[in-house]
Amino acid sequence: MMKALLFYGAYDVRLEERPIPKLVDQTDVIVKTTSAALCGSELHRYRGHSKANMKPGYVCGHEGIGVIHEKGSEVKNFAVGDRVIVPFLTSCNECFNCKRGVHGRCKKGRNFGGLTLDGSQAQYFLAPMADAILYRLPKELEGGELAILMTDIFPTGFNGAKQAFIDTPQDQWKDMSIAVIGCGPVALCAIISALEYGPARIFAVDSVVSRLKAAEELGCIAINFKEVDAVAKIREATDNNGVHAVIEGVGMSPALKTAYDIVCPGGKISSFGVHNGELPFTAADCYNKDVHIKFGRCPLRVVFHDALTTLIRNRELIERMKFIDLVVPELDESFADALKRFECGELNKVVFKPNGPSA
Ligand SMILES: [Zn+2]
Ligand SMILES: [Zn+2]
Repeated sequence: MMKALLFYGAYDVRLEERPIPKLVDQTDVIVKTTSAALCGSELHRYRGHSKANMKPGYVCGHEGIGVIHEKGSEVKNFAVGDRVIVPFLTSCNECFNCKRGVHGRCKKGRNFGGLTLDGSQAQYFLAPMADAILYRLPKELEGGELAILMTDIFPTGFNGAKQAFIDTPQDQWKDMSIAVIGCGPVALCAIISALEYGPARIFAVDSVVSRLKAAEELGCIAINFKEVDAVAKIREATDNNGVHAVIEGVGMSPALKTAYDIVCPGGKISSFGVHNGELPFTAADCYNKDVHIKFGRCPLRVVFHDALTTLIRNRELIERMKFIDLVVPELDESFADALKRFECGELNKVVFKPNGPSA
């Protein structure tokens, strides 16, 4: 048996004993979890805002790293004992969508910690299609907890930044003004990635003072939308033109509305927030501003290598910024307090050590 955190409904996650998972297909592995993180995108469901995945009784968590404990006979690229990074969702690398680099919408794709696939917040979890999804833990990330960022938030932030710049010729990057709406952990990863493109300035919009301070430490112009009118402030600072690109990581309609209001004509909105609501603008609004919008899930497989090298280059900075502000040394009832503090925004990133602190 093993310990696991199970989702039972809004504000109802329980620590329970579960059988250690067994291989289903010969392309699967069983991972013994060394670290499993809480992610902001889990909060939509935890708060009952998301209608998807509300059925009770599955293991939470889509961010996990660990050691291969058991493998199916058809797994060629990995061996028992290998330390691996497990991306937040599975992708086959072979279907119509994967072949075009849209791995986030793999036809066989399943999210860890959802209705169809148990997650990583347990002592063991099953990872299907192991050869297609796993990454070996790189030497540079052994020890410490930064590797968990590569399961989701760093590639997602990296891709959010990449989308903000790729439509603009490189010689114009240095003249670009960028805004980032929401300064949570993923957005900070986006800011760190965006800085490598060398834009003229980055406005960072949030209302949580500690997050704004972190953005400011990275060189951003921090704007607290509870204290000032963020739209007016950014428009004024850009001679009423607006910014060239907006990176939106909140996943709520008002954030998207702000993005629309501050983007310049012909500009880009790069949205990686997990949205559950309506668009706060019309097709006519989009036409009238010639606005480009990129939504959706990060195709982690496409950006993994570049995101990893960016993370490694910025490793000291990321460590200094204390992205991970709580490491829970085991899976016990203290999870409830950690989850509560994470939910109210007191903690940025929580990592559980389901098999003990030294695993
Ligand atoms: Zn995540
Ligand atoms: Zn696929």
